[in-house]
Amino acid sequence: MDLNFKDFEVWFVTGSQDLYGEETLRQVEADAKEVARSLNERSEIPVTVVFKPVMTSADAIRRLILEANVDERCIGLITWMHTFSPARMWIAGLNSLRKPYLHFHTQYNRDIPWDSIDMDYMNLHQSAHGDREYGFINTRMRKNRKVVVGHWQDAEVLKAIGAWTRVAAAWHDGQGAKIARFGDNMRHVAVTEGDKVAAQIQFGYEVNGYSLSDLTAYVDQVTDAQINALLEEYDASYELSERVRPGGEFRDFLKESARIEAGMRAFLKDGGFKGFTTNFEDLTGLKQLPGLASQRLMKDGYGFGAEGDWKTAALLRAMKVMSAGLSGGTSFMEDYVYHLDPAGSRILGAHMLEVCESIAKGKPVLDVQPLSIGGKDNPARLIFTAPAGPAICASLIDLGNRFRMVVNEVEVVDPPADLPKLPVARVLWDPKPNLKVAAEAWILAGGAHHSVFTQALDASYVEDYCELAGIEYLLINEETEIRQFKQDLRLGEIYYHLARGI
Ligand code: MN
Repeated sequence: MDLNFKDFEVWFVTGSQDLYGEETLRQVEADAKEVARSLNERSEIPVTVVFKPVMTSADAIRRLILEANVDERCIGLITWMHTFSPARMWIAGLNSLRKPYLHFHTQYNRDIPWDSIDMDYMNLHQSAHGDREYGFINTRMRKNRKVVVGHWQDAEVLKAIGAWTRVAAAWHDGQGAKIARFGDNMRHVAVTEGDKVAAQIQFGYEVNGYSLSDLTAYVDQVTDAQINALLEEYDASYELSERVRPGGEFRDFLKESARIEAGMRAFLKDGGFKGFTTNFEDLTGLKQLPGLASQRLMKDGYGFGAEGDWKTAALLRAMKVMSAGLSGGTSFMEDYVYHLDPAGSRILGAHMLEVCESIAKGKPVLDVQPLSIGGKDNPARLIFTAPAGPAICASLIDLGNRFRMVVNEVEVVDPPADLPKLPVARVLWDPKPNLKVAAEAWILAGGAHHSVFTQALDASYVEDYCELAGIEYLLINEETEIRQFKQDLRLGEIYYHLARGI
């Protein structure tokens, strides 16, 4: 997708105090600069890490944080107390802070110098208690923040910070993001509904509806040259079935699909949209369901939700941003059919058409086939299978008084056969801990049939995102056990009810 992480800045802010004298503060600054520079240079951390002066007063902290709040490039802060830093100095600043932040509990020197350690050394390398003082005030103020512990050159630490910066970038991307809905919700469907005002307050993105005639105005203006350019791209990128190749009986359906794609692209680009939804019940003016177009727009980083599902569209966009540049794809997904063999229960994930080609193993097949639902022309679609390996499915639901995220860790497996008659992209997975427990927990939690599926991110990314949003996060994995899970659901009902206040 079109995104350069280096355009995003995370400010590296070190806390100290005036009591130590100039020499110590000079050393603190030199150490902090080196840590910031090192973080900035590491490939695990994709954003630009910017060193900021060492903080020794409440005024300076507050000024810096007000600056961070309005800085367009700043997506968050990394804070670290190299020495002791009396935490009441941080109250005014933290009270004003509107950006995500990470508390980095590290220490400049990894090892204790057993032979030379003296009291000067002890006073300089005090994060063990400086960060506890700072941690206390954050907890006392009920601040949501990420805490990462370990030496700044440690591989696991770098990975955790890098992951958090990706989530912070997704959060930044979501503020003011626009999601377009072509038509409304699929009629009578519950889980794809939700409170768009609450979502805008909670997550920062806005969702607005557009008439299909707004879209077809763009589709009708698409030129033959635009269509031909897309057809050339299709011919070069995919394995075309006989009937959609030049001269094939369904080539015209493919041309129409290219027209729809070009029109949708123009509409989304003109409006500055980052995601969209479609609804097969409302395709007025379109000759076919935009399957191929949705698949290809997802590949380019657009969020997508079928049947009007704007929550999944926005979540997909966020996870596309988090995963940009990582190996493994990310797609809109639906739990479709079960394989209930006790020797190996599986879920077959797919959709009517709209699965992102970023998760394809090998070159997708491009074909046109009839759609048994919707009563339109035969739509084009990419057909493929996802590669085996670990993945997660994430579902965001609206419980009426709040949002809840449900995540299931799964293992994608190779289908035992080619599924020659299945004309859609598909993924076969083994949900953790097993299908019975995973599906029971998912259903008790109210998880949707729609989700975001990714092989690029582990569950910790979604957990960090939920922390930023301040919403409930439920993980279903190898350790899930139904009795405890039910208890977690009950506790969540109480906690989030009370935490919200009036
Ligand atoms: Mn669906």
